[in-house]
Amino acid sequence: MNQFVYFDHNATTPMTVGVANMISDTLVVGGNASSIHAAGRLARQKVEDARDKIAKLVGARASEVVFTSGGTEANNLVLRGIKCKHIMASTVEHDSVLDAAENIECLAVDENGIIDLVAFEKRLDKTEGQVLVSIMLANNETGVIQPVAEVSKIAKKYGALVHTDAVQACGKIKLDREELGVDFISLSAHKIGGPQGIGALIVNEEVQLNSLMRGGGQERGRRAGTENLSGIAGFGVAVEFVESRSHVAKTRKLRDALESSIKRIAPGIIIFGGNVDRLPNTSCIFMPGVSSETQIMKFDLKGIMISAGSACSSGKVQPSHVLRAMGIDNSVASNVIRISLGNVNTMDDVDYFVQEWEKIYLSANASKFMEVA
Ligand code: PLP
Repeated sequence: MNQFVYFDHNATTPMTVGVANMISDTLVVGGNASSIHAAGRLARQKVEDARDKIAKLVGARASEVVFTSGGTEANNLVLRGIKCKHIMASTVEHDSVLDAAENIECLAVDENGIIDLVAFEKRLDKTEGQVLVSIMLANNETGVIQPVAEVSKIAKKYGALVHTDAVQACGKIKLDREELGVDFISLSAHKIGGPQGIGALIVNEEVQLNSLMRGGGQERGRRAGTENLSGIAGFGVAVEFVESRSHVAKTRKLRDALESSIKRIAPGIIIFGGNVDRLPNTSCIFMPGVSSETQIMKFDLKGIMISAGSACSSGKVQPSHVLRAMGIDNSVASNVIRISLGNVNTMDDVDYFVQEWEKIYLSANASKFMEVA
């Protein structure tokens, strides 16, 4: 085996040393942020420091940051905690949006996975009562970026509230609440080098948000339960790294080099979302003749970690609802993998991946080449 290559940063991004140190220090010191004695005040200080950093990252006020157990809870909190008559969401949203509420009206996307703004406005025009629309900033499988600022402009004409799931976009592209014009933003720490099990919902304070849990009055009554102190402190440190975004140009260069090499080997290859605005680290690639599962296993045997272009939360690869929504046939969608790069990757990793990709591709497609010859 050559080396270990981690190309699955959209699933989770390895924790930085600074984050791990902050977590272990915080765990040792302890304290409950609601206690009024010295240990409690120290814990509160850590929570509020992290809150300030997260607020600054997205251009919000600290009081608008509600800590949650992750992106899934942030999405559930907004979709279930806001009083509205009608929820609309795109068909390519994460399951934590699509499954968060009953009767979500799904908004179609085009072949690149981008929402149809004209159809959206027509639907809004015909809908009565308070609407909440949820459109992700960037897709976790393809990396395709949605026109969220345009969605907000249209939504505001009709008095609709707008939520964006920015779990994947955070740290990879600019994230400014005002520019996006949204009322709510979901974030998750483990996608940016922070710990798993902590996230945040950025909340427009003018809108009443009801806590999903009953209990204490933490997070200004918007999320009951003792704050996850070490997780929050670690999230705060992870945000400092994101603020610099120094790794973004590097990952884009690596991702583009990877795609160019693959296209040279197999000129007809499909890269989903390849011609539209995408996250700089993500590539969603179809390989003829080899299923996603087989590709994952073959790469894994070589020490390369990737994922299917689909959700595999229970360890089993399911057909991707994202690719289906983009009109991709199941026979194609079942041969798609997702590569997501991060700060730790190098050009050596890319070269090694391309070398192994070529071997798998050629062994599966050799008979076709022989037929042509
Ligand atoms: N939203 C998107 C777009 C995601 O990619 C994910 C995780 O993969 C989530 C939400 C859920 O975040 P968490 O793992 O923090 O619950």
